[in-house]
Amino acid sequence: MGKILDYDEMNEILDNLDSKVIKKEKPIGYTYFGYPIEHYVYGHGRYHVIITGGTHSSELISNIFVIRFMEKICNKEVNIDEDEYTIHFIPIVNPEGTIIVTSAIRSLIPRGISDEEEQTFCLTYYRNSHIEGDYVNKYGDKGEKLQQLMFRHATPDILDGRHNKLKDYLKKLFKDNNLPIGCMINWSSNGRGVDLNSNIECGKFVSRVENGEEIYAKLHLNNIRRDKLGPLGCPYFAKKGEIEKENEALLKFYNEIKNNFDLIGSFIYHSCGDIVYYLGDSKKENPWIKLSEKDKNKNYEVAKVYAGNTGYKLDGFEIYTTMDSKLKSLFPVTLLIELGSVRATPLSQFMDFDLDGSFEAFKMVYSKIIKNNSMAIIKTLPVMVKMFNEGSIEK
Ligand SMILES: [Zn+2]
Repeated sequence: MGKILDYDEMNEILDNLDSKVIKKEKPIGYTYFGYPIEHYVYGHGRYHVIITGGTHSSELISNIFVIRFMEKICNKEVNIDEDEYTIHFIPIVNPEGTIIVTSAIRSLIPRGISDEEEQTFCLTYYRNSHIEGDYVNKYGDKGEKLQQLMFRHATPDILDGRHNKLKDYLKKLFKDNNLPIGCMINWSSNGRGVDLNSNIECGKFVSRVENGEEIYAKLHLNNIRRDKLGPLGCPYFAKKGEIEKENEALLKFYNEIKNNFDLIGSFIYHSCGDIVYYLGDSKKENPWIKLSEKDKNKNYEVAKVYAGNTGYKLDGFEIYTTMDSKLKSLFPVTLLIELGSVRATPLSQFMDFDLDGSFEAFKMVYSKIIKNNSMAIIKTLPVMVKMFNEGSIEK
Protein backbone atom coordinates (compact mmCIF):
# COMPACT_ATOMS: atom_id res chain seq x y z
CA MET A 1 0.00 0.00 0.00
CA GLY A 2 1.23 3.45 -0.90
CA LYS A 3 1.92 6.28 1.52
CA ILE A 4 0.03 9.06 -0.20
CA LEU A 5 -3.45 9.82 1.10
CA ASP A 6 -6.09 11.83 -0.73
CA TYR A 7 -8.63 14.07 1.00
CA ASP A 8 -11.28 11.34 1.30
CA GLU A 9 -8.79 8.79 2.58
CA MET A 10 -7.58 11.23 5.21
CA ASN A 11 -11.11 11.81 6.43
CA GLU A 12 -11.79 8.10 6.46
CA ILE A 13 -8.81 7.50 8.73
CA LEU A 14 -9.75 10.44 10.95
CA ASP A 15 -13.36 9.25 11.23
CA ASN A 16 -12.19 5.78 12.22
CA LEU A 17 -9.85 6.88 15.01
CA ASP A 18 -10.83 5.50 18.41
CA SER A 19 -13.18 8.23 19.67
CA LYS A 20 -12.42 7.25 23.25
CA VAL A 21 -8.85 8.39 22.65
CA ILE A 22 -9.15 11.20 20.09
CA LYS A 23 -12.46 12.99 19.91
CA LYS A 24 -13.82 14.90 16.95
CA GLU A 25 -15.02 18.34 18.02
CA LYS A 26 -17.11 20.75 16.03
CA PRO A 27 -15.16 22.38 13.18
CA ILE A 28 -13.24 25.57 14.00
CA GLY A 29 -14.85 27.13 10.95
CA TYR A 30 -15.85 26.66 7.33
CA THR A 31 -14.13 27.65 4.11
CA TYR A 32 -15.62 29.97 1.49
CA PHE A 33 -16.92 26.95 -0.45
CA GLY A 34 -18.39 25.45 2.72
CA TYR A 35 -15.86 22.79 3.73
CA PRO A 36 -15.40 22.19 7.46
CA ILE A 37 -12.01 22.82 9.06
CA GLU A 38 -12.07 19.84 11.39
CA HIS A 39 -10.76 19.83 14.94
CA TYR A 40 -9.83 16.78 17.04
CA VAL A 41 -8.79 16.59 20.68
CA TYR A 42 -6.68 14.20 22.70
CA GLY A 43 -6.47 14.27 26.50
CA HIS A 44 -7.95 16.51 29.18
CA GLY A 45 -4.91 17.89 30.94
CA ARG A 46 -4.12 21.40 32.03
CA TYR A 47 -1.55 22.11 29.31
CA HIS A 48 -3.01 22.84 25.90
CA VAL A 49 -1.10 22.41 22.65
CA ILE A 50 -2.18 23.04 19.05
CA ILE A 51 -0.86 21.00 16.11
CA THR A 52 -1.74 21.94 12.53
CA GLY A 53 -0.91 20.66 9.05
CA GLY A 54 -1.56 21.57 5.45
CA THR A 55 -1.70 25.39 5.48
CA HIS A 56 -0.03 24.98 2.09
CA SER A 57 -1.90 22.08 0.58
CA SER A 58 0.88 21.09 -1.81
CA GLU A 59 2.95 20.33 1.29
CA LEU A 60 0.90 17.17 1.62
CA ILE A 61 3.32 15.40 3.92
CA SER A 62 2.36 17.90 6.63
CA ASN A 63 -1.27 16.67 6.65
CA ILE A 64 -0.19 13.09 6.55
CA PHE A 65 2.39 13.47 9.30
CA VAL A 66 -0.22 14.98 11.64
CA ILE A 67 -2.72 12.23 10.82
CA ARG A 68 -0.15 9.45 11.26
CA PHE A 69 0.90 10.99 14.58
CA MET A 70 -2.75 10.99 15.74
CA GLU A 71 -2.93 7.33 14.76
CA LYS A 72 0.19 6.57 16.76
CA ILE A 73 -1.45 8.09 19.84
CA CYS A 74 -4.53 5.92 19.30
CA ASN A 75 -2.40 2.80 18.77
CA LYS A 76 -0.36 3.64 21.87
CA GLU A 77 2.79 3.69 19.77
CA VAL A 78 3.53 7.04 21.36
CA ASN A 79 2.62 7.97 24.87
CA ILE A 80 1.40 11.39 25.94
CA ASP A 81 -0.07 11.76 29.43
CA GLU A 82 -3.77 12.49 28.86
CA ASP A 83 -4.09 13.86 32.40
CA GLU A 84 -1.37 16.40 31.82
CA TYR A 85 -1.96 17.53 28.23
CA THR A 86 -4.82 18.50 25.96
CA ILE A 87 -3.69 18.31 22.34
CA HIS A 88 -5.74 20.01 19.65
CA PHE A 89 -5.26 18.72 16.13
CA ILE A 90 -6.24 20.55 12.96
CA PRO A 91 -4.80 18.15 10.40
CA ILE A 92 -6.34 19.86 7.34
CA VAL A 93 -6.11 23.64 7.72
CA ASN A 94 -6.81 24.15 4.02
CA PRO A 95 -9.43 21.58 2.91
CA GLU A 96 -10.11 23.16 -0.50
CA GLY A 97 -6.43 23.17 -1.43
CA THR A 98 -6.08 19.60 -0.18
CA ILE A 99 -9.01 18.51 -2.34
CA ILE A 100 -7.44 20.19 -5.38
CA VAL A 101 -3.92 18.83 -4.97
CA THR A 102 -4.93 15.29 -4.01
CA SER A 103 -7.45 15.12 -6.86
CA ALA A 104 -4.59 16.05 -9.17
CA ILE A 105 -2.45 13.30 -7.68
CA ARG A 106 -5.23 10.73 -8.12
CA SER A 107 -5.57 11.67 -11.81
CA LEU A 108 -2.27 9.82 -12.30
CA ILE A 109 -1.50 7.79 -9.19
CA PRO A 110 -4.40 5.53 -8.25
CA ARG A 111 -5.28 4.40 -4.74
CA GLY A 112 -4.10 1.04 -3.57
CA ILE A 113 -1.08 0.70 -5.85
CA SER A 114 2.01 -1.01 -4.58
CA ASP A 115 4.60 0.86 -2.60
CA GLU A 116 7.09 0.21 -5.36
CA GLU A 117 4.92 1.75 -8.05
CA GLU A 118 4.12 4.76 -5.93
CA GLN A 119 7.81 5.26 -5.23
CA THR A 120 8.61 5.40 -8.92
CA PHE A 121 5.97 8.12 -9.45
CA CYS A 122 7.43 10.14 -6.58
CA LEU A 123 10.96 9.74 -7.86
CA THR A 124 9.93 10.71 -11.41
CA TYR A 125 8.18 13.79 -10.13
CA TYR A 126 11.19 14.74 -8.03
CA ARG A 127 13.60 14.24 -10.92
CA ASN A 128 11.40 16.13 -13.39
CA SER A 129 11.16 19.07 -10.98
CA HIS A 130 14.94 19.11 -10.68
CA ILE A 131 15.44 18.99 -14.43
CA GLU A 132 13.16 22.03 -14.72
CA GLY A 133 15.04 23.81 -11.92
CA ASP A 134 18.31 23.16 -13.74
CA TYR A 135 16.85 24.40 -17.04
CA VAL A 136 15.82 27.63 -15.33
CA ASN A 137 19.34 28.10 -13.97
CA LYS A 138 21.07 27.16 -17.22
CA TYR A 139 18.79 28.62 -19.86
CA GLY A 140 16.41 30.95 -18.02
CA ASP A 141 13.67 28.56 -19.18
CA LYS A 142 10.13 29.85 -18.64
CA GLY A 143 8.27 27.22 -20.63
CA GLU A 144 6.13 24.24 -19.74
CA LYS A 145 7.29 22.12 -16.84
CA LEU A 146 7.80 18.35 -17.00
CA GLN A 147 6.47 17.82 -13.49
CA GLN A 148 3.29 19.72 -14.35
CA LEU A 149 2.91 17.94 -17.69
CA MET A 150 2.83 14.65 -15.79
CA PHE A 151 -0.45 15.98 -14.36
CA ARG A 152 -1.76 17.72 -17.48
CA HIS A 153 -5.05 15.83 -17.35
CA ALA A 154 -5.66 17.17 -13.86
CA THR A 155 -8.01 20.00 -14.80
CA PRO A 156 -10.83 21.34 -12.60
CA ASP A 157 -13.10 18.88 -14.45
CA ILE A 158 -11.63 15.98 -12.48
CA LEU A 159 -13.32 17.21 -9.29
CA ASP A 160 -16.39 15.07 -8.69
CA GLY A 161 -20.00 16.17 -8.23
CA ARG A 162 -19.59 16.87 -4.51
CA HIS A 163 -17.29 19.74 -5.39
CA ASN A 164 -19.31 21.46 -8.13
CA LYS A 165 -19.10 24.96 -6.66
CA LEU A 166 -15.34 24.72 -6.26
CA LYS A 167 -15.03 23.14 -9.71
CA ASP A 168 -16.98 25.90 -11.49
CA TYR A 169 -14.98 28.58 -9.74
CA LEU A 170 -11.66 26.92 -10.64
CA LYS A 171 -12.67 26.50 -14.28
CA LYS A 172 -13.25 30.22 -14.50
CA LEU A 173 -10.03 31.00 -12.60
CA PHE A 174 -7.94 28.81 -14.93
CA LYS A 175 -9.40 30.67 -17.90
CA ASP A 176 -9.35 34.21 -16.52
CA ASN A 177 -5.84 34.01 -15.07
CA ASN A 178 -4.43 31.76 -17.78
CA LEU A 179 -3.09 29.27 -15.23
CA PRO A 180 -0.48 26.82 -16.57
CA ILE A 181 -1.55 23.35 -17.58
CA GLY A 182 -1.06 20.75 -14.84
CA CYS A 183 -0.62 23.33 -12.08
CA MET A 184 -3.28 21.77 -9.84
CA ILE A 185 -0.42 19.53 -8.66
CA ASN A 186 1.28 22.63 -7.23
CA TRP A 187 -1.79 23.96 -5.46
CA SER A 188 -0.80 25.55 -2.15
CA SER A 189 -3.55 28.16 -1.93
CA ASN A 190 -7.14 27.71 -0.83
CA GLY A 191 -9.88 27.13 -3.40
CA ARG A 192 -10.22 30.86 -4.12
CA GLY A 193 -6.55 30.96 -5.07
CA VAL A 194 -5.31 32.84 -2.00
CA ASP A 195 -2.12 31.67 -0.27
CA LEU A 196 -3.14 31.39 3.38
CA ASN A 197 0.33 32.02 4.79
CA SER A 198 0.73 35.15 2.62
CA ASN A 199 -2.80 36.28 3.48
CA ILE A 200 -1.90 38.88 6.06
CA GLU A 201 -2.04 42.68 6.20
CA CYS A 202 1.76 43.04 6.09
CA GLY A 203 2.51 40.28 3.54
CA LYS A 204 5.84 40.38 1.73
CA PHE A 205 4.38 40.97 -1.73
CA VAL A 206 1.36 43.11 -0.85
CA SER A 207 2.84 46.44 -1.96
CA ARG A 208 4.21 44.94 -5.18
CA VAL A 209 0.84 43.37 -5.95
CA GLU A 210 -0.79 46.75 -5.24
CA ASN A 211 1.63 48.30 -7.74
CA GLY A 212 0.46 45.84 -10.37
CA GLU A 213 3.85 44.11 -10.67
CA GLU A 214 4.09 40.68 -12.28
CA ILE A 215 5.70 38.41 -9.68
CA TYR A 216 6.70 34.87 -10.60
CA ALA A 217 7.53 31.95 -8.34
CA LYS A 218 11.03 30.51 -8.57
CA LEU A 219 12.79 27.61 -10.31
CA HIS A 220 10.56 24.75 -11.46
CA LEU A 221 7.52 26.86 -10.58
CA ASN A 222 8.56 29.98 -12.47
CA ASN A 223 5.55 29.77 -14.80
CA ILE A 224 3.24 30.50 -11.85
CA ARG A 225 2.40 34.07 -10.89
CA ARG A 226 2.23 35.06 -7.24
CA ASP A 227 0.48 38.36 -7.84
CA LYS A 228 -2.68 36.76 -9.21
CA LEU A 229 -5.16 34.32 -7.68
CA GLY A 230 -3.83 30.85 -8.39
CA PRO A 231 -1.82 27.91 -7.05
CA LEU A 232 0.52 29.83 -4.75
CA GLY A 233 1.64 33.10 -3.28
CA CYS A 234 -1.30 35.41 -3.89
CA PRO A 235 -1.85 37.45 -0.69
CA TYR A 236 -5.51 38.47 -0.95
CA PHE A 237 -8.69 37.86 -2.91
CA ALA A 238 -9.98 41.25 -3.99
CA LYS A 239 -8.48 43.89 -1.76
CA LYS A 240 -5.55 44.41 0.56
CA GLY A 241 -6.28 43.43 4.15
CA GLU A 242 -9.06 40.97 3.24
CA ILE A 243 -8.55 37.90 5.45
CA GLU A 244 -9.64 34.44 4.27
CA LYS A 245 -12.06 32.36 6.30
CA GLU A 246 -9.44 29.72 7.13
CA ASN A 247 -7.17 32.32 8.75
CA GLU A 248 -10.07 33.99 10.54
CA ALA A 249 -11.07 30.63 12.00
CA LEU A 250 -7.52 29.78 13.00
CA LEU A 251 -6.91 33.09 14.79
CA LYS A 252 -10.24 32.85 16.59
CA PHE A 253 -9.45 29.30 17.64
CA TYR A 254 -5.95 30.10 18.93
CA ASN A 255 -7.38 33.05 20.88
CA GLU A 256 -10.12 30.93 22.41
CA ILE A 257 -7.64 28.35 23.62
CA LYS A 258 -5.21 30.97 24.90
CA ASN A 259 -7.89 32.95 26.72
CA ASN A 260 -9.57 29.98 28.39
CA PHE A 261 -6.72 27.56 29.04
CA ASP A 262 -2.99 27.29 29.54
CA LEU A 263 -1.80 27.26 25.94
CA ILE A 264 1.84 26.22 26.24
CA GLY A 265 2.69 26.07 22.57
CA SER A 266 1.92 24.94 19.07
CA PHE A 267 3.45 23.11 16.15
CA ILE A 268 2.72 24.31 12.62
CA TYR A 269 3.80 21.88 9.92
CA HIS A 270 4.99 22.88 6.45
CA SER A 271 7.38 21.28 3.98
CA CYS A 272 10.20 21.30 3.09
CA GLY A 273 13.71 22.19 4.24
CA ASP A 274 14.41 20.28 7.48
CA ILE A 275 14.09 23.52 9.43
CA VAL A 276 12.61 24.50 12.79
CA TYR A 277 11.59 28.17 12.74
CA TYR A 278 11.06 29.89 16.05
CA LEU A 279 10.65 33.52 16.98
CA GLY A 280 14.08 34.91 17.66
CA ASP A 281 15.85 38.02 16.46
CA SER A 282 14.84 40.40 13.75
CA LYS A 283 16.01 43.63 12.19
CA LYS A 284 12.39 44.73 11.95
CA GLU A 285 10.10 45.60 14.81
CA ASN A 286 7.51 42.96 15.60
CA PRO A 287 4.14 44.50 14.65
CA TRP A 288 2.18 42.39 17.12
CA ILE A 289 4.21 41.98 20.29
CA LYS A 290 7.41 42.99 22.01
CA LEU A 291 9.29 39.94 23.22
CA SER A 292 11.83 40.23 25.99
CA GLU A 293 15.21 38.53 25.77
CA LYS A 294 13.90 35.99 28.25
CA ASP A 295 10.92 35.19 26.03
CA LYS A 296 13.11 34.85 22.96
CA ASN A 297 15.33 32.54 24.89
CA LYS A 298 12.36 30.35 25.83
CA ASN A 299 11.40 30.06 22.17
CA TYR A 300 14.95 29.08 21.40
CA GLU A 301 15.15 26.50 24.22
CA VAL A 302 12.00 24.76 22.96
CA ALA A 303 13.07 24.90 19.31
CA LYS A 304 16.48 23.50 20.23
CA VAL A 305 14.94 20.35 21.71
CA TYR A 306 12.82 19.81 18.61
CA ALA A 307 15.80 20.35 16.32
CA GLY A 308 17.96 18.08 18.45
CA ASN A 309 15.52 15.22 18.01
CA THR A 310 15.12 15.61 14.26
CA GLY A 311 18.55 16.84 13.19
CA TYR A 312 16.78 19.86 11.61
CA LYS A 313 18.40 23.27 11.31
CA LEU A 314 17.29 26.07 13.63
CA ASP A 315 16.21 29.44 12.29
CA GLY A 316 14.95 32.26 14.50
CA PHE A 317 15.14 35.12 12.07
CA GLU A 318 11.78 36.68 11.28
CA ILE A 319 10.49 39.41 8.98
CA TYR A 320 6.84 39.27 10.05
CA THR A 321 5.25 38.93 6.64
CA THR A 322 3.28 35.71 7.08
CA MET A 323 0.22 34.50 8.93
CA ASP A 324 2.44 31.98 10.70
CA SER A 325 4.76 34.73 11.94
CA LYS A 326 1.69 36.34 13.49
CA LEU A 327 0.78 33.07 15.20
CA LYS A 328 4.38 32.67 16.37
CA SER A 329 4.27 36.18 17.81
CA LEU A 330 0.89 36.07 19.50
CA PHE A 331 0.95 32.48 20.75
CA PRO A 332 4.36 31.49 22.06
CA VAL A 333 5.96 29.03 21.96
CA THR A 334 4.96 28.27 18.40
CA LEU A 335 7.32 26.36 16.15
CA LEU A 336 7.02 26.23 12.37
CA ILE A 337 8.53 23.01 11.13
CA GLU A 338 9.54 22.34 7.53
CA LEU A 339 9.35 18.58 7.06
CA GLY A 340 11.92 16.83 4.90
CA SER A 341 14.81 18.21 2.93
CA VAL A 342 14.06 16.80 -0.51
CA ARG A 343 12.53 19.62 -2.50
CA ALA A 344 9.64 19.03 -4.92
CA THR A 345 6.30 19.08 -3.18
CA PRO A 346 3.84 17.45 -3.07
CA LEU A 347 5.45 14.09 -3.90
CA SER A 348 9.14 14.10 -3.01
CA GLN A 349 8.60 13.73 0.75
CA PHE A 350 6.97 10.35 0.12
CA MET A 351 10.17 8.88 -1.28
CA ASP A 352 11.43 6.15 1.00
CA PHE A 353 14.47 4.58 -0.64
CA ASP A 354 17.71 3.47 0.87
CA LEU A 355 19.81 3.28 -2.27
CA ASP A 356 23.44 2.42 -2.18
CA GLY A 357 25.59 5.52 -2.20
CA SER A 358 22.78 8.07 -1.91
CA PHE A 359 23.41 11.03 0.32
CA GLU A 360 21.83 11.07 3.77
CA ALA A 361 19.03 13.56 3.01
CA PHE A 362 17.81 11.31 0.21
CA LYS A 363 17.49 8.17 2.31
CA MET A 364 14.16 7.01 3.74
CA VAL A 365 12.72 10.51 3.47
CA TYR A 366 9.18 9.54 4.48
CA SER A 367 10.00 7.12 7.30
CA LYS A 368 12.45 9.56 8.84
CA ILE A 369 9.90 12.39 8.75
CA ILE A 370 7.24 10.33 10.53
CA LYS A 371 9.54 8.72 13.07
CA ASN A 372 11.78 11.64 14.02
CA ASN A 373 9.04 14.24 14.21
CA SER A 374 6.79 12.01 16.34
CA MET A 375 9.67 11.61 18.75
CA ALA A 376 10.46 15.31 18.64
CA ILE A 377 6.93 16.30 19.71
CA ILE A 378 7.08 13.92 22.67
CA LYS A 379 10.46 15.31 23.78
CA THR A 380 9.47 18.94 23.21
CA LEU A 381 6.21 18.94 25.20
CA PRO A 382 7.80 18.79 28.68
CA VAL A 383 10.14 21.65 27.75
CA MET A 384 7.14 23.71 26.64
CA VAL A 385 5.60 23.07 30.07
CA LYS A 386 8.81 24.05 31.82
CA MET A 387 9.14 27.29 29.85
CA PHE A 388 5.46 28.10 30.39
CA ASN A 389 5.81 27.70 34.14
CA GLU A 390 8.85 29.93 34.26
CA GLY A 391 6.49 32.81 33.46
CA SER A 392 7.14 36.06 31.67
CA ILE A 393 5.68 35.13 28.28
CA GLU A 394 2.49 37.18 28.20
CA LYS A 395 -0.63 35.20 28.80
ZN1 LIG B 1 4.55 26.12 3.38
